[in-house]
Amino acid sequence: MAVADVIVIGGGITGCATAYELSKRGVQVTLLEREHIHAMGSGWTLAGVRQSGRHSAELPLAREAIRRWETLGEELDADVDYRQRGNLRLALDEQEVATIRRVVEQGNAAGVEMVYLDSTAAREIAPVITDSVAGASFCPTDGHADNLKTVQAYAHAAQRHGAAIITGVEVLHLATLGDRVTGVVTTDGTYNADVVIVAAGVYSPQLLAPLGLPLPIEIVHCPVAQTIPTDSFRLDPVLGVASGGFAARQTAGSGIRFIGASIPWGEGHHTPGNVGMTVQQMNNMVRNALAILPGLGALRIERTWGGLIDSTPDVIPVLDAVTSHPGLVVGAGFSGHGFGIGPISGEILANLATIGSDDRFDLSPFGLDRFAHDSIARTQLEMLG
Ligand SMILES: Cc1cc2nc3c(=O)[nH]c(=O)nc-3n(C[C@H](O)[C@H](O)[C@H](O)COP(=O)(O)OP(=O)(O)OC[C@H]3O[C@@H](n4cnc5c(N)ncnc54)[C@H](O)[C@@H]3O)c2cc1C
Repeated sequence: MAVADVIVIGGGITGCATAYELSKRGVQVTLLEREHIHAMGSGWTLAGVRQSGRHSAELPLAREAIRRWETLGEELDADVDYRQRGNLRLALDEQEVATIRRVVEQGNAAGVEMVYLDSTAAREIAPVITDSVAGASFCPTDGHADNLKTVQAYAHAAQRHGAAIITGVEVLHLATLGDRVTGVVTTDGTYNADVVIVAAGVYSPQLLAPLGLPLPIEIVHCPVAQTIPTDSFRLDPVLGVASGGFAARQTAGSGIRFIGASIPWGEGHHTPGNVGMTVQQMNNMVRNALAILPGLGALRIERTWGGLIDSTPDVIPVLDAVTSHPGLVVGAGFSGHGFGIGPISGEILANLATIGSDDRFDLSPFGLDRFAHDSIARTQLEMLG
């Protein structure tokens, strides 16, 4: 039987950032990952880092995250390819102009530096977009980073501070004594801990359900493609659309990564065989992409994949020290935008695990008990990228 102060379940950005924040404070932390780090959402992501279009409850976290991203590579002693070149969200017709104008108004009212651009101004920022775009929002402080490098940087920094990162071990269930969570039972035996942090992405609900704690996520599937590096195509900002059915960015290595519309995914456990995109999804994704970025047609595809998204009914995550179950902290349900706020989710979860709160933020919208009676109406997942 192994003993740690804190066990983190899941080696995505949430778990690795949390392990780093905890180990930096001298906490003895063990992270358990079933596959390898960045095996799921944090490996599949587009990796946009944005505050524009965020839910008002999430905005303070996103703002603080952007402050952290600016020096994150230096802090973790690794290049995470962070680029702060804005987010351009397109309105493709007059109807979408109203949506985009509303995003700008709401952003400005919340203090986010955002402007509405007409078609000509949008094309000055991204000349590669179609000339039939109707308008766009632009947030210059948004950006993107390399997801694999970021998660690796967090994991390595955590290890340098003494964290144990154990891969190839699956947590089968949480161990409890009465209502208290005392550790985890795994494929490698039992690990005891003062606190267990569930950061297991789409698999978080099944770890919480046996404790009578519902986390009613809808799992949606999003197709992704990346071209080989290209000098002939320059896209500075992250690109999105009002409908959420397309987003793209140019990686630091100069490939274009783009995503299509998400669809419900009902396959149960994911395998390499069932998580790829269907031919129909590929067709839709490419058709949309070419309508927005016509020059993409000449580029060669390097890789395609599909990613699962853990979408909560109100499309904001759970960040909570669960009072009904002492010793349990949850960081899950990031609803397609957990990469950008990963650095702050890690700080918050470390604070919840060690001092039970994080007074910098109003965390009341992120409580797990908001789902206790399943009364929250489902909001459509709109903003990606
Ligand atoms: C296609 C796509 C595009 C996206 N675009 C963006 C974007 O532009 N910007 C943005 O901010 N976000 C974006 N997101 C969302 C973002 O990537 C995720 O919210 C974020 O990566 C989630 O990180 P996580 O650490 O919470 O979960 P994950 O990265 O999914 O990590 C969970 C880990 O837990 C492990 N695990 C699960 N169950 C167990 C178990 N029982 N025992 C041990 N280990 C377990 C898994 O193997 C996995 O590695 C996108 C997501 C997708 C799929």
